[in-house]
Amino acid sequence: MSDTTQKETRAFQTEVRQLLDLMIHSLYSNKEIFLRELISNASDAADKLRFAALANDALYEGDPNLEIRVVFDSEARTVTVSDNGIGMNREEVMANIGTIAQSGTKEFMQSLSGEQVKDAHLIGQFGVGFYSAFVVADKVTLLTRRAGDPVDAGVRWESAGDGEYTLETVEQAAHGTSVILHLREDEKEFLDGWRLRSVIRKFSDHVSWPIMMLTKETAAPDEAEEKEAATDEDKGEESADKAAAAEPVEKWEKVNRASALWTRPKSEITEEEYTEFYKHVAHDFEEPLAHLHVRLEGKYEYTLLLYLPQRAPFDLWDRERKHGVKLYVRRVFIMEGAEELMPRYLRFVRGLIDTTDLPLNVSREILQKNQVVEAIRKGAVGKVYGLLEELAEKEPEKYQTLWKTFGKVLKEGIIEDYANKARLAKLLRFASTHTDAEAQTVSLADYIARMKPEQEKIYYVTGETHVAARKSPHLEIFRKKGLEVLLLSDRVDEWFVSHLHEFEGKSLQSVTKGDLDLGKLDDEEQKKDREETENRFKDLVTRIKTALGETVKEVRTTHRLVDSPSCLVGGEYDMSATMERILKDAGQEIPGAKRILEVNPDHALLLRLQAETEGQRFDDLCHILFNQALLCEGGQIEDPADFVRRLNNLL
Ligand code: ADP
Repeated sequence: MSDTTQKETRAFQTEVRQLLDLMIHSLYSNKEIFLRELISNASDAADKLRFAALANDALYEGDPNLEIRVVFDSEARTVTVSDNGIGMNREEVMANIGTIAQSGTKEFMQSLSGEQVKDAHLIGQFGVGFYSAFVVADKVTLLTRRAGDPVDAGVRWESAGDGEYTLETVEQAAHGTSVILHLREDEKEFLDGWRLRSVIRKFSDHVSWPIMMLTKETAAPDEAEEKEAATDEDKGEESADKAAAAEPVEKWEKVNRASALWTRPKSEITEEEYTEFYKHVAHDFEEPLAHLHVRLEGKYEYTLLLYLPQRAPFDLWDRERKHGVKLYVRRVFIMEGAEELMPRYLRFVRGLIDTTDLPLNVSREILQKNQVVEAIRKGAVGKVYGLLEELAEKEPEKYQTLWKTFGKVLKEGIIEDYANKARLAKLLRFASTHTDAEAQTVSLADYIARMKPEQEKIYYVTGETHVAARKSPHLEIFRKKGLEVLLLSDRVDEWFVSHLHEFEGKSLQSVTKGDLDLGKLDDEEQKKDREETENRFKDLVTRIKTALGETVKEVRTTHRLVDSPSCLVGGEYDMSATMERILKDAGQEIPGAKRILEVNPDHALLLRLQAETEGQRFDDLCHILFNQALLCEGGQIEDPADFVRRLNNLL
């Protein structure tokens, strides 16, 4: 294989190009984070090699001391970050570095407004990664070879970040990856050992692999000593240094603490360290909302360092997404995104679980149906609940942020996690007619506290949008009687309420289903009144049913309505109209249950109908009565032209 046939120029995905542009502008004021991102990748690569080598230690190629090296070259104007980790082969370089594989990228791109200032904050949501190199570099060269591959299967990737990159097969003596940044003219500040060191200490101190820097200090011995003493904790190494300090020295020196953060006592870890670790472990650009760090020592021994993010990653709804909770066994990284450790509805939780009770060679297969894993998962989920409850109680604003972002995901738990249903139900938040506001802030406990003494049920209405739910004619009687109704308009709501039958002994009741039975809220007199009305309208109701024919299942008078002339009601066990529409939108063929038309006997339109004899006009009025009700609940009229014709007849 000759190099020339192997060299090719390729174009970045369009998305990558757009992203690069945006990134360079939005990260400019924060540009030193490129180092954090590259070190983070190098650390992941070392983690991966250590794990792969458990099964095959030949992969170390005789070099088991994994570490990360950062060097700079003032003359060449380069900064290089190298690792002796897993490395990549040609296909992997193409798949990982020139494309953004995750689905959801397109949607993310579409959400951009095109105005760089406005879009700047969105970049954090996307994750920054390798491309941040282009914030400080006008050319980036990546040299890599996958551990275990032959020496001539190395890869050289290079790009000026202008839409193209070249790819070439080269010889690489060592496995692992080096990223060489050719700094822009005005980024010389990074050609300085002190500057690089301080950035590494600030952002990457927690990285568990040693980060080594070559000290090339040629400064006067006194000055060098002072600087060392002020910043370095490694006094031991330093004293050995002093003797040689008169001569310019060149040696590798560990810059970070290089111990696993989660193994240190909580009291010794600062908030900043927790935050930086989060950014590393979650590949997030922003600070987390909250974290928990506990060591459990019951039947099984494990440590949890878990975080709740502020913002949803752009691929929250992507089933293949990879960054979840990482599993470590005795500090050795094993795998990420282990679903066995955190249920799907808590997939927004980030961080890690480290245990001593699993074998190092644990595989996905072993994880499934494993007693230890199950116990750890149960413990971890319990702690996450604890954290959520604490936030909800003590920091409701933060909880509101979390709910706004992840509430829809949490609700899936009502369907998925039977054991925790009651506990989760307490964490749910809703919009309600109490304030009519769109923000979901009302808990079921709040609702119960406001219930009327005679009220037995928790009422709710579903709609496709908040406004549709809020304006539902079904609410009229509830508003009149001052009864609170929960307003549900998230897509998942239809499913989840069908799994939440009760809360603390009170059953949940849709206001659009079945006969409206207000139980003790109705007094005897009203009931009598209604019977009377029913009799009075018996004849009219039959005539309306005849006019509408098979369009409706039944016509009856109602006491749900105050201002509207009519509404549609489903049978107690029928699928709701909102659910029907969701399924139809999803392309499912469903027969569609016939609805009951309820008419308001107190409405002027009814009185007019009563005075009307059979004929075209009566027919038109009946159809309009039905179609209005359909429109009000967000439904679609089957024959709009017919509806308009009838309307015009009357006008
Ligand atoms: P992220 O790290 O958020 O996935 P990046 O753009 O930083 O995104 O990296 C993309 C992928 O490229 C990584 O997931 C990894 O598979 C690969 N990669 C990046 N740097 C290295 C490295 N130093 N060694 C091995 N693989 C790497």
